[in-house]
Amino acid sequence: EGFLPFEHEPYHNFQDPATAQAQEQAFRSVREQYVGRTFPMIIAGREATGEKTHDVHNPADTREVVWRFPNATHAQREEAIAAAKAAFEDWRFSDPFQRATIFKRAAELLRARRFEFNAVMTLENGKNWSEADGEVAESVDHFEVFAREAMRWAQGKAVYPMPDEHVTTVYEPLGVVACINPWNFPSAIPLGMALGAIAAGNTVIWKPASDTPLSSYLMVELLFQAGLPRGVIQFVTGDHDVLGDDLVDHKDIRMIAFTGSKNIGCRIYERASKVHPGQRWLKRVIAEMGGKDPMVICADADLDEAAAGIVAAAFGYAGQKCSACSRVIAEDSVYDALLEKVVERAKRLKVGLPEDNADLGPVIHERAARNILRYIEGGKKTAKLVLGGDQPDMGDRRGGYVNPTIFSEVEPNDPLFQEEIFGPVLAFSRARDWRHAIELANDSEYGLTASFYSRDPHKITEARKLMHFGNLYINRKCTGALSGTHAFGGYGMSGTNAKVGGPDYLFWFMQTKTIAQRY
Ligand code: GLU
Repeated sequence: EGFLPFEHEPYHNFQDPATAQAQEQAFRSVREQYVGRTFPMIIAGREATGEKTHDVHNPADTREVVWRFPNATHAQREEAIAAAKAAFEDWRFSDPFQRATIFKRAAELLRARRFEFNAVMTLENGKNWSEADGEVAESVDHFEVFAREAMRWAQGKAVYPMPDEHVTTVYEPLGVVACINPWNFPSAIPLGMALGAIAAGNTVIWKPASDTPLSSYLMVELLFQAGLPRGVIQFVTGDHDVLGDDLVDHKDIRMIAFTGSKNIGCRIYERASKVHPGQRWLKRVIAEMGGKDPMVICADADLDEAAAGIVAAAFGYAGQKCSACSRVIAEDSVYDALLEKVVERAKRLKVGLPEDNADLGPVIHERAARNILRYIEGGKKTAKLVLGGDQPDMGDRRGGYVNPTIFSEVEPNDPLFQEEIFGPVLAFSRARDWRHAIELANDSEYGLTASFYSRDPHKITEARKLMHFGNLYINRKCTGALSGTHAFGGYGMSGTNAKVGGPDYLFWFMQTKTIAQRY
């Protein structure tokens, strides 16, 4: 179709001493350049400070305030929405080729700064080097993918022709899109939603999570540097009172793109359904919410490969991904052998400082750790604790450190089986046979990601049909979706299934116009 070939951005190999040194150097320079600073918002193209600021803490030791960001006032929120509305009148008619050129340039700029972006993320949300690196690489991919998607959708689509009319179907943008973002992927998730909006010709209110605003701020600045007109993104930070319900309810917001918890997603979905005075549309909402993602292991699977996949998917970034594996469902005949292999591997994981590239860092803050520990205490009464279940000794550091935890013999009605814990807690459940395993996997209100391990073509065919998940992975782990290849988004209470990074994503940010012309 005339598009450039696409290759995923390669990950850094930190075993290589020169690469590791470059990452260490980036930590030093990020600490020198950024730590202690107060950053601005960007409203109507100008830097804006608020009346108050909020502190951003290093999860590795929450006594350390790394940087500060403003709390937007009500007036600033209004100014941002008005500026986004005004900028839409130009940007909606911008040339998709120009949009693509900006994204390609941004990809180049980000490639040159990957270590810096990694370091900022580690200091904000506690990802270790490889997890941060994977996410920044995904952000580069997003730029490349959305550049191509902007141009592809600009071509419109063919309809069945009529002899005396020329009929075209074209896609037009919607208006101002509010993007409400999570802290666990502070680079790739906000970027994916914002690029979806911008590639389609919308303008954006970009609200980062208050725990992780600098990863977003640097990305927005990078987009401006790449040539994006400064009105196209309004970067606003602060608390829920100003940027929560009132933003969602606003009559000038055309669409809300949200990634975060199920509770907040449901709240947004409900509130957005109300038409406010002066509002001339039904708001569109896309929401990416939680997961309770299972890995199903059949008796004929390669157990060593399965164990490696499970440990990576369950404990990478301390389980704080909606794609994380939190349930293992194994056939009875291999259950004990698999459990032993998983425990063996998980025991070798080192909990420590993300800045030192430990296998697992802390969870986002102590409050999150207390919530995780409550689930663990409950699990000790209902299931069998086989690993962890406690916190490591981190000296006088303050942070939400939790050891990798595995429960066995978890029953389907257990909160460990049904509720998203968002921490390093893995539940093993025993299935009578592989069909029962699929039934158990589907026994969840969520349906985000799942894995199925087997080498039997018949079982695989059945799993492909029956497993109720937006992202089903056969013989591989259930984390690590790649933009442009593994369109990401779930079924059921995991959200609206908008599938970021996929071939239909831009459609969510557009409306369709049919033009029939007679001469
Ligand atoms: N896209 C990420 C993955 O496939 C997960 C995103 C999330 O946790 O929200 O692992």
